[in-house]
Amino acid sequence: MRILLVEDEPDIARQLKQALADAGYAVDHAPDGEEAQFLGETEPYDAVILDLGLPKVDGVSVLERWRREGMSSPVLILTARGAWSEKVAGFDAGADDYLTKPYHTEELLARLRALLRRATGHSQPTLSCGGLRLDPRAARASVNGEPVRLTSLEYRLLHYVMMHQGRVISRTELVEHLYDQDFDRDSNTIEVFVGRLRKKIGPDRIETVRGLGYRLTPLPGEPA
Ligand code: CA
Repeated sequence: MRILLVEDEPDIARQLKQALADAGYAVDHAPDGEEAQFLGETEPYDAVILDLGLPKVDGVSVLERWRREGMSSPVLILTARGAWSEKVAGFDAGADDYLTKPYHTEELLARLRALLRRATGHSQPTLSCGGLRLDPRAARASVNGEPVRLTSLEYRLLHYVMMHQGRVISRTELVEHLYDQDFDRDSNTIEVFVGRLRKKIGPDRIETVRGLGYRLTPLPGEPA
């Protein structure tokens, strides 16, 4: 899953970007409203964390324009303490959730997980597909109860396909949701990662749909 982090305070941004990366997300950072506007309109983020007090263009205006242009990613806004009217303006502009500064990183990560669940139609905190399980709270996966050790990219890949299980996902879509903008993107490497993941979770769980992409489904006989 790929997140856009919009935050103008360098220390907070650095710390949060690291926390998000540690939690298994690809992260792009925008330090002002202008950059945020551009990235939100051009890249397909799974969720956005948007500080409202921003240089160049304020967060509420950024969000309003995103929504006007059809940007539908869930947005978590960060507001200043005591600024209740900012929250109202944020929700009315199209925000899905808010946090008041200062906040605990753990709470932000939990709210982000909830937003991603809702946006992809999942209600359970743990994702499962037959004997395959993934717990985004711990960034861990298991097969039939046995833990599977994954690299961060393998984890991101598995997280994304589990969030969208049953649907065919193209390589382009995977590239757009697994890598941040600074990454040297090459859709051929996706095949390599799928191959590595199959070695770890079983060869038949991720099906190749020729010419279209990949699909995660339970094994025959396994409950969904
Ligand atoms: Ca700010």
